[in-house]
Amino acid sequence: MESSVIRLTHCQKEIFCFSVPEECPSCGEELRGSRLQEAPVSLPSPFTNGHKTSCCLLVAPAHDNLDRDFDGAADLHTGISNTKGVVYNYTRGGVRRDQSGWERSVSVPLVRPDMFHLLAQWDQYLERFSDGPMWDPAWHRFDENNHNCFSFCLHFVNGVLAAEGRGTLSRDDFTHTFILPRMRRVSKYTTLYRHIQKHQFYTVDRQQHAQGAEPSS
Ligand SMILES: [Zn+2]
Repeated sequence: MESSVIRLTHCQKEIFCFSVPEECPSCGEELRGSRLQEAPVSLPSPFTNGHKTSCCLLVAPAHDNLDRDFDGAADLHTGISNTKGVVYNYTRGGVRRDQSGWERSVSVPLVRPDMFHLLAQWDQYLERFSDGPMWDPAWHRFDENNHNCFSFCLHFVNGVLAAEGRGTLSRDDFTHTFILPRMRRVSKYTTLYRHIQKHQFYTVDRQQHAQGAEPSS
């Protein structure tokens, strides 16, 4: 996934593509040099370079496999970035501190930019938390379902919330509030992207778009 998706409007259609075509795929009118109703806009990709984030929950395809895209069925790997973009993630062998491999992730900010107190201590919290016996293979066994990368993130987030005097989140709350809405966006974007790769365009009536059919939202 390298190209960026652009959206242009012509003859009451929304046209999604990678570059402005010679002629409108819907009505056939020449587009180059002619005036479009609106300037093409590029759709924001739902992916972020995790190493350029600070204090985020990151979700990426498991096993560093960049060819395998999010499709809802693929395993997801989760981690937490520190203020320098190092991604802490729990695996069978313990906690890894990755400086690469999370270039195509979905990120969920965990700290508001005005929470200076928390920001100042984040790296220290994360480091100390990762050193705990919970995540040491000699003390605790990794479990595919119950003690995995997601448990690590959830425990960490809950520890931070508790330290801030706020209520904790259940696994379900966490999944439904933070993960699923973003995964739905990724899945829509991926579907749109693949369609364009295969057919060059994706066209939808403007009317429909106004009612919320835009695959990016
Ligand atoms: Zn047209």
